[in-house]
Amino acid sequence: MTGQRLKAAILVVSDTAARDPSTDRVIGTLGDVFDAAGSTSWEQPIAKIVPDDVLQIQQSVCGWADGHDPFNLILISGGTGFAVKDNTPEAVSPLLHRQAPGLVHGMIAASLSVTPFAMMARPVAGTRNKSLVITLPGSPKGAKENLEAIIKLLPHACTQAAGADSRTLHAGGVKKLEAEAGVKPEPKHEHHHHHHDHSHSHSHSHSHAHGHAIPRAHTTPSERQSNDPAAGANRRYRESPYPMLSVEDALKIISEQTPDPEVIELAVSTDLVGYVIAEDVYAAEAVPAYLASIVDGYAVIAPSSPDAGSNTKGIFPVASITHANEGGTLTPLEPGTIARITTGAPLPPNANAVVMVEDTLLASSTPDGDEEATVEILTGEIKPNENVRQPGSDVTLGSKILGRGDLITPVGGEIGLLASTGTKTVKVFKKPTVGVFSTGDELVEHDDPRTLQGGQIRDSNRPSILSCLKSWGIPAVDLGIARDTPAGELEASLRNALRGVGKSNNSVDVIITTGGVSMGELDLLKPTIERSIGGTIHFGRVSMKPGKPTTFATVPYKPTSSSQGQQERSNRLIFSLPGNPASALVTLNLFVLPSLHKMLGLGQKPAALGLTPSLGLPLVSVTLSHSFPLDAKRTEYHRAIVTVSRMDGRLYATSTGAEGVGQRSSRVGSLASANALLVLQPGKGTAAQGTLVEALMMGPVLAE
Ligand code: AMP
Ligand code: MG
Repeated sequence: MTGQRLKAAILVVSDTAARDPSTDRVIGTLGDVFDAAGSTSWEQPIAKIVPDDVLQIQQSVCGWADGHDPFNLILISGGTGFAVKDNTPEAVSPLLHRQAPGLVHGMIAASLSVTPFAMMARPVAGTRNKSLVITLPGSPKGAKENLEAIIKLLPHACTQAAGADSRTLHAGGVKKLEAEAGVKPEPKHEHHHHHHDHSHSHSHSHSHAHGHAIPRAHTTPSERQSNDPAAGANRRYRESPYPMLSVEDALKIISEQTPDPEVIELAVSTDLVGYVIAEDVYAAEAVPAYLASIVDGYAVIAPSSPDAGSNTKGIFPVASITHANEGGTLTPLEPGTIARITTGAPLPPNANAVVMVEDTLLASSTPDGDEEATVEILTGEIKPNENVRQPGSDVTLGSKILGRGDLITPVGGEIGLLASTGTKTVKVFKKPTVGVFSTGDELVEHDDPRTLQGGQIRDSNRPSILSCLKSWGIPAVDLGIARDTPAGELEASLRNALRGVGKSNNSVDVIITTGGVSMGELDLLKPTIERSIGGTIHFGRVSMKPGKPTTFATVPYKPTSSSQGQQERSNRLIFSLPGNPASALVTLNLFVLPSLHKMLGLGQKPAALGLTPSLGLPLVSVTLSHSFPLDAKRTEYHRAIVTVSRMDGRLYATSTGAEGVGQRSSRVGSLASANALLVLQPGKGTAAQGTLVEALMMGPVLAE
């Protein structure tokens, strides 16, 4: 690292500058501060402007901090005040793996010596992976003052954060470091109000001696909360730090983060059901492969022109018998003779039509009385090609039989087509493998023979989710229960799933967990994903009912030596669903299924009529058969039974929640017979009987 220049990135967070970059003054100002600090330490910083949008801020920071070649320093200017749209600290805090309150103090102390309004800043600083991330005020002046207050120390901090050996760095002690950085500790009795230089204040006490009457909190916001799973309950977030996303935005993020499907080649067999075709399939053989009869009857030579006479009428000797059999060579039909033929059998050479058995009579039998000797044909109307199928008339040799994006259904049509054309292997998209585990100290296996104690409950989420996955044709791995309390058990479960466990030793592409994502004391999943396994949480709250704490994260996939040749690096997905059984199944259907569909390749069908294929549950319109209560703020996904009416052919929806009991997300019973999720938009009061609403179909429509 020594001798190498450090890389810095500047993110300007401003709605105005995002609309019109020419209004920005911060990038130039900060660039000057870097220049002044010396080009031997810093490369020319790169810069980017985003609006006051949590996701865009988070995506930029992660983009710079999470790659192979991360930036050493990420500065974020703007959005640190108290205005409603100021949410930079909220965006940045959850991304930090380690807090750096000292830098925050340093910046606030420097600004306080200029103006008491410095108290209005809410900076955060810390490291994410190997990058140092620091927020700065949005005003060019404030940003400059803050950066100048700390910049001399940053090369040291960045070098350490990037992984340099701290013993070598610290050889010579603090004095040497200070000398190298060009900073001196301020003598305690020499506090300057008026001039703020590169002072690095360690002290709180002097403000008292100098009569500063400004009250100040002894902790910064970043000190008061922590995402360290090992921190005591009193240090943990008291309010979810995750912004609330709409269902649409959450689905969009999931879709963006879901990797594209991989292509594999499989033998044609019944095991292909549920796979999606990755490459168009062309018929390797014609169907039928020969001129075939479509009736039971007699192959004849029909005259090609009408004036050739009605020479199919009359009594003819039966020359040969032809069945659909193993490739036996057929004797050509002599003019004036006919040949008995069964449905599907090849016509003998020379024959060009078949007279159906109904149009004939037995004329004479062979002397032994066992066989037909002559047969009378009663009609003279038979034309060439009558009652025959031309070779390739069902499937022409080389024609396209299945296309990219076609699902191989259990109904059998696709397998039949592949089989009939002699297709041996097909290119399909690899199915994702999903690992499922439940979290919670209170959980007991559903088949544990012991009586439940205290607050124990049986794990119902895992069997429900595993059976859903089975019905979707998705290979699943049961990863059991991970308890909350023994430190490291959650982490071990996640690692095992990513590494591959059990006999198959197959690592999973997707992990589904339930529980541990709400704000309860033991809800440690989010911090474990972020801090212990280096995952990125893309969202931790969704505006919906039930399912608000649904969490979605990705973990970069580093291929092992044994998997070389596969794709370079892609994401594994973690869906951490709420523990309530109803919430878990609603969010499984709503969020996990579309992602699995994308990985299965269902989104790969070329768009027909400009419509991209829709993933996830099919959406239909249904009529409410009674009134439904509405939530004032959140879209509700209401479990319902949808039936088709015999009277008018319309679809009607009835709630599965018993009257009065409603659909509390803890009720397992509300799911038992639900085949649909009604999408009830937020509103006042109730949606009246007869209202038409959208429904996501989880299972087949029931007949009334
Ligand atoms: P949590 O999100 O962990 O606070 O869980 C919310 C609620 O769901 C609690 O009442 C849990 O006991 C319950 N719960 C969590 N996991 C499961 C599970 N696997 N099966 C059934 N109930 C669960
Ligand atoms: Mg729990």
